Amino acid sequence: MSGTDRALSGPSHGNDMDAGEADADEAPEPFTRETPEGEVVHVDPREGDRGTEGAFLAVYRTPGGEGRYGWYCAACDGVAVAMDTMGRVECTNCDNLRKPTGWDAAHE
Ligand SMILES: [Zn+2]
Repeated sequence: MSGTDRALSGPSHGNDMDAGEADADEAPEPFTRETPEGEVVHVDPREGDRGTEGAFLAVYRTPGGEGRYGWYCAACDGVAVAMDTMGRVECTNCDNLRKPTGWDAAHE
């Protein structure tokens, strides 16, 4: 009786390349900055607006996009940005300015 049957385990299943993720637009990664007060805030590059000198990006106190802090100025890499009640955004560090025109009321 010779029975040394070896169960041939087939070659591992070929991995189907799952090309499900459409990365057409390169999503910018959120990053952190420190405010003049020493608070670490989170800049969301996906949300922002264009200023005269560069982009203004939304700044939050948490990485989850809660607790709006203000704006980040991409022109001078700072968060010293002031916003008035008219929706005008002005960097206090450089000349970057966003005029209140085209302010979308859907934004908070
Ligand atoms: Zn600036």
